[in-house]
Amino acid sequence: MAALPGSPLLYILYNFCAPSFPLSGRRVVDIQYFMDQIIKSGNHAPFDCSFLHMELMKEERRGLASTYIFRCRLCNIIQKIHTDNADCRDADVNTGIVFGATSIGIEYSQCNELLTTINVPLMAANTFASKERNLATVIQHLQAKNEIWQL
Ligand SMILES: [Zn+2]
Repeated sequence: MAALPGSPLLYILYNFCAPSFPLSGRRVVDIQYFMDQIIKSGNHAPFDCSFLHMELMKEERRGLASTYIFRCRLCNIIQKIHTDNADCRDADVNTGIVFGATSIGIEYSQCNELLTTINVPLMAANTFASKERNLATVIQHLQAKNEIWQL
């Protein structure tokens, strides 16, 4: 790394605030879940480091859901922060977008175009289709049990 002229504070700001992994676009985030993970991460041993010492190493996207992999710059501990709670009682964000698209009568291409206009990457077309099939199976099952309306 090139030496920076100036005070140690500039050096610290450069090293701790410079993005290590470039991100672009927007994401759909369960904001309370996301913030809770950061707040609950607290400080960790052996150097009592905090989330402020973490640098983003990688983003793993699964459709609209992302997991951010952070590494502590001081002790190399790895921490993952998720944008969506897969264990949540509500549908995950990927099932939700497919259900929403189906509800308003649009398909993958229109859904992708809509999200592209706001710079949010969508899942691959085959993943979308797979979720549509799973959703259709669930709806048929619930209709058979008269637990939801008949379409
Ligand atoms: Zn650490």
